[in-house]
Amino acid sequence: MAVKIVPSSARPSTIERLSQAVNELLEESQCISRYASNHKLFSTSTGEFREVNCKSWKCPKHRVSWLWKQKTIVTRELLHNPINKLITLTLAEKCSPEQLNLARQLLCRDLRKDNNDFQYLAVLEFTSATRLPHLHLLARSCFIPQKKLSELWEKATMGAKILPSPVVYIEKPRDQAAASIYALSYALDGYNKKQDIPKEWKGRKISYSKKFFSKSTKEIWKEALTEIYGPPSNEKWVITPNKPGAQIRQSVDNSSGEITFRYT
Ligand SMILES: [Zn+2]
Repeated sequence: MAVKIVPSSARPSTIERLSQAVNELLEESQCISRYASNHKLFSTSTGEFREVNCKSWKCPKHRVSWLWKQKTIVTRELLHNPINKLITLTLAEKCSPEQLNLARQLLCRDLRKDNNDFQYLAVLEFTSATRLPHLHLLARSCFIPQKKLSELWEKATMGAKILPSPVVYIEKPRDQAAASIYALSYALDGYNKKQDIPKEWKGRKISYSKKFFSKSTKEIWKEALTEIYGPPSNEKWVITPNKPGAQIRQSVDNSSGEITFRYT
């Protein structure tokens, strides 16, 4: 094993390491959305507050709930509509989100010529050292030899004006829930290992083919929430800006006796 020798002057001191750890912790607790940070949810039924979730996978504070939602939706779909392949498509050079989308579309078009029904959900990740993008696909398709997939991906990347990228992997999923967690965990673990999508990248983290989900992801999420928390309550939440010095006021409707809360 190679041992890297660092001169003592270059080694971070305990104080430096501690302050770095504190900074990382602080970053974890900050939302990247100014709107979400400057507003809160207020319940007019109970007078309670909740924080606003920006729902972004890029947010250090809210990415955990983002990931939980994606995992829940995908796992629920896979349990009754299983996939049969885990595919990794790598890229030989940096490219734009548009080029990557085009390469993916070209590949799918070619695969569908033979397979006629190739369905996938793709999760984008970046390799830590090279910062090159690669895609993890959960796929349903008939048999594709690795050599054939490699040729098609090479052709597709060339079609998108990216360096020919023949390196692909195909695996069989061991079980469906594990497959979903495997592919999607990159979304979060990648962030922890500083492998996340570079700031300048404007593309999506997850993309999927039309027939990958048997119904809308919104519907699947609603069903999951109902199963976990029970049917949605009638509680009314309003979004309100943070108002220093504002107070919660209670009012009672004389005829119905209904109590409502205001934040003014
Ligand atoms: Zn956030």
